[in-house]
Amino acid sequence: MRRCNSQYHIGKRAIIETLFISKYHKNICKDCMSVIRKKERTKNKERCRREQKEWRKHNAEHVKKKSKVYRNSEHGKKVRQMSYERNRKQKRAYDKNRRQNEPGVREKYNAANAKYRAAKLQATTSWFEIQKEQIELLYKEASRLTKETGNLYHVDHKDPLQGKTICGLHCLENLQVITALENWKKKNKQVN
Ligand SMILES: [Zn+2]
Repeated sequence: MRRCNSQYHIGKRAIIETLFISKYHKNICKDCMSVIRKKERTKNKERCRREQKEWRKHNAEHVKKKSKVYRNSEHGKKVRQMSYERNRKQKRAYDKNRRQNEPGVREKYNAANAKYRAAKLQATTSWFEIQKEQIELLYKEASRLTKETGNLYHVDHKDPLQGKTICGLHCLENLQVITALENWKKKNKQVN
């Protein structure tokens, strides 16, 4: 029965039964030994990283060549693909969470999404940027009405972007907040 000699020992210098006796560590208890090991590992890691960084700096040409070979190798391609997928999934989850939980993010997203769809149909105008904030306000208004009334509200294009005879524009003058039901009725009318 001896006492733990470690400087990391917490609390009273307990009398211990498990001893780690090595050249460097004598009479150290199990808990303290794991603390010591961890500290040594991180210290080594930092040193390794530092030395590696130095080496890479001095051998830049070699590193460049090697990286190119790695990038074009099957394994390198696979790793890159995998990290891309992982990041994309994380980004999507992160965005979704923000849309659901942070105020104002969903409305901004809806407005941006509508602009994207309009741009694809070449229905945006040169003065869009001037109206951008006012258009975003319409999406906020729709979301506010939805919350307050319990009825679903949409931002609608008075003249539809993909109408049969006319193509409406994605601009303030052509946007209005209406209920989803009205929106649905309007779409039905256009089909018939
Ligand atoms: Zn100890």
